[in-house]
Amino acid sequence: MNDIFLKVQEEGTENHGGYGATLFDPRWKARRIEILERDGRKCKICNSSEKLQVHHRQYHFSRSLNRFKDPWEYSNNLMVTLCQSCHQKGHRIYKVPTKYIK
Ligand SMILES: [Zn+2]
Ligand SMILES: [Zn+2]
Repeated sequence: MNDIFLKVQEEGTENHGGYGATLFDPRWKARRIEILERDGRKCKICNSSEKLQVHHRQYHFSRSLNRFKDPWEYSNNLMVTLCQSCHQKGHRIYKVPTKYIK
């Protein structure tokens, strides 16, 4: 669990919340399938194959663009397949760290 949800001390790191409409973007849909395939279409925590989602282990805020990266702009190693239940549970316990990039 700890390598999927990193515990962070800073406050307010999860101001990003959901990605909303970007999740319907075809670029994300394609990327999501790539991650699901890589992970064998199973949750990395409990092995379930139901209601799979892709979790971002970090959020990147670009200072030059003054916005968060779009979900498909992250490298594959920062994304992991989780079932809805483990995903929600994880987010209740852990914050997703935000990294500030150029
Ligand atoms: Zn699970
Ligand atoms: Zn997540």
